[in-house]
Amino acid sequence: MRQSQLLLTTLRDVPSEAEARSHQWLLRGGYIRQIAAGIYSYLPLGWRVLRKIEHMIRQEMDAAGAQEMWMPAIQPAELWKESGRYGAYGAELIRLHDRQEREFVLGPTHEEVITSIVRNEISSYRRLPVNLYQIQTKYRDERRPRFGLMRGREFLMKDAYSFDRDWAGLDAAYRTMYAAYERIFSRCGLTFRPVEADAGSIGGQGETHEFMALADIGEDIIVSCSACDYAANLERAESGRTAGSSGNHPHASTDGQAPSEVHTPNVKSIEELSAFLRTGPEQIIKTLVYRADGELYAVLVRGDREVNDTKVKSYLKAEQVELAGADEVLQAAGAPVGFVGPVGLSLNILVDHEVAAMAEGITGANRIDTHLTGARPGKDFALEFTGDFRNVTEGEPCPRCGQALEFHRGIELGHVFKLGTKYSEAMNATFLDSDGREKPLVMGCYGIGVSRVMAAVAEQSIVEDRLVWPMSVAPFAAHIIQVSMKDEEQRALAEQLYAELGAAGVDVLLDDRDERPGVKFKDADLVGAPHRIIIGRGAASGEIEWMGEDGIKTTIPAAEAVQRVR
Ligand code: ATP
Ligand code: MG
Ligand code: MG
Ligand code: MG
Repeated sequence: MRQSQLLLTTLRDVPSEAEARSHQWLLRGGYIRQIAAGIYSYLPLGWRVLRKIEHMIRQEMDAAGAQEMWMPAIQPAELWKESGRYGAYGAELIRLHDRQEREFVLGPTHEEVITSIVRNEISSYRRLPVNLYQIQTKYRDERRPRFGLMRGREFLMKDAYSFDRDWAGLDAAYRTMYAAYERIFSRCGLTFRPVEADAGSIGGQGETHEFMALADIGEDIIVSCSACDYAANLERAESGRTAGSSGNHPHASTDGQAPSEVHTPNVKSIEELSAFLRTGPEQIIKTLVYRADGELYAVLVRGDREVNDTKVKSYLKAEQVELAGADEVLQAAGAPVGFVGPVGLSLNILVDHEVAAMAEGITGANRIDTHLTGARPGKDFALEFTGDFRNVTEGEPCPRCGQALEFHRGIELGHVFKLGTKYSEAMNATFLDSDGREKPLVMGCYGIGVSRVMAAVAEQSIVEDRLVWPMSVAPFAAHIIQVSMKDEEQRALAEQLYAELGAAGVDVLLDDRDERPGVKFKDADLVGAPHRIIIGRGAASGEIEWMGEDGIKTTIPAAEAVQRVR
């Protein structure tokens, strides 16, 4: 590609709306342009990167035995009512209707659609197992679209869904996907970590892992051990439930991992809980409370700052926050607050003095969405804690080996999840097994945020004042820069190398614009090709300057250029 023909407008200044470095660089480098909050166009340079990531994902998914297909973004609301998620999904779900007032949604994910397809296509165990995937646009009306492609409202996802006869089959499918994810993110050149995640709040029945790219701007916290391979997201670490220890379903795979030990006090009553919240360590942020049957019952949050209750509530109202999780509340309130309530419903806000009020057993309202002041715990609402809650702090002993826990920030790149029969039962997706019995399909789902991966790679690829893409995702592998457009020898050599690299199958960009060298070099820092070939004065004696990923320039004979790049 000749740069004179490439639609590429670079920006000198850092766009003020961009907080994350990757976002700044992707805007400055003319990779993406925003058209509305969280909604982006990919210009040719950005599209090349995205397509390369997609290509690797396809290769690895195909190699893992998954089959590509494609499902519509517009989905009938009936399917979501069948699964029970139409109400439960909350404000992130974009709802619309057609001219006949029929209800639809813009798919934030495709469990419902795939389940409806497979229940019609598959009726016998003979057709199982099957793993189907697509690379498709997803829509989520994120409360706070952020960091460019990182948290968009329209974004590209690879989503795969496995269907098996039984949990053993699902375990195998899950392991295959897990391994494929490790290959995909490695090939993208990412520094990442798979971490145990918590299925509780999503309501699945089994094991789940998130793949996290390490980055300072990451919105997730990874709790990992300095000595062993224990790694979990914060929620998971707090809930203290490792794979297989949840006890509420016998099929979950344990993968040989020992359940972690509870190391915060067991709390068996609201009084104990309140006391703990009032006197416990100040760094408490979030506590998950499970019922005796293993279901996540409540999320409690308590901060150590005084907050004005009324102010918090009006803020939440103005922001139209669905209180889905503690993080959301904390972010929305801009201050730590306490709240408690049944998961999946709007949660009641509870500030510190009300925690105290609860402990004192003051009676009052217990309706959903009403304030908890005065509620009488145990009478006004059920409080069957297992007491299995904890909070985790940096430096405390690892639940597996006792060494110090470390905290890192991470970007969730992908998510693998054992759904079990959650959707197949709700949506009646069954098959006839070899024993002649009708059984629900056992499902897994596996997502990768393709566009988020692009942002994460960018985030990890900024070296001082240069972007250096890993070879596998770089929009161009090599960038030839002809320093002076007036110099015939330079032009001849540039054209020759451009042709040779092209013939060798290298994605090569030739800067043939009539621009000052300084402009060309600055733009090259934004294009981020891992190999730069600078054709300047040395051209007369057949020499070029070659610059690799480390940014060090070396003078080499032009004849070696192709060799260096491959
Ligand atoms: P998050 O916790 O960041 O909101 P999620 O857990 O809601 O993500 P999943 O439902 O697990 O996301 O979707 C699968 C993948 O899609 C995620 O692992 C992530 O890489 C990507 N993804 C999710 N939401 C967004 C978004 N708003 N913009 C870009 N990518 C996203
Ligand atoms: Mg989300
Ligand atoms: Mg998540
Ligand atoms: Mg997720």
